[in-house]
Amino acid sequence: MPVFNRNQAARIKKRTWFFLDAVVEVEPGHFHRAGFGRFLLPHPPVVNWLLRRGLARDAYKKLCSEHEMGHLQALPFEALYSVILVLVMIHNETNDVIGWLWVVASSFAAWEILAEIHTIRHVQSGYQCLYRDISLIPRSIFWGIALFLVLGGWVYVFRHTFIQ
Ligand SMILES: [Zn+2]
Repeated sequence: MPVFNRNQAARIKKRTWFFLDAVVEVEPGHFHRAGFGRFLLPHPPVVNWLLRRGLARDAYKKLCSEHEMGHLQALPFEALYSVILVLVMIHNETNDVIGWLWVVASSFAAWEILAEIHTIRHVQSGYQCLYRDISLIPRSIFWGIALFLVLGGWVYVFRHTFIQ
């Protein structure tokens, strides 16, 4: 279990647009924690590990915090996205495991994209500015994989639902 050190960690608390208190705790080298009120979910910073490669500590904490907050702010949109994709999948007569894996992968990828768009929009000192001297490769890998999974999910369920 990661030890949460108040001096090292970034902690932000913000009321979301849907009136829940979102809390995010980010500490470099440790699991991130995000959730509502006292219910914080620890998770490994997989996407942030990729996206924040090469950033200084302060920039890392700032961008990771915004990204996590983006996940929480985007939760209702994410839920809607998944419900629509699941409904299309239910109409899919093949109803196979691969299709459901696409639904899950596409939903997670969409959530990551929403969180990162939130980050780009909310970093005050400028997202591009922070990444000025940093390789574009990790970010390209993220956007490439995320967009592939989002679109792949839709292509799969539509192809098997409407084109028999
Ligand atoms: Zn994320």
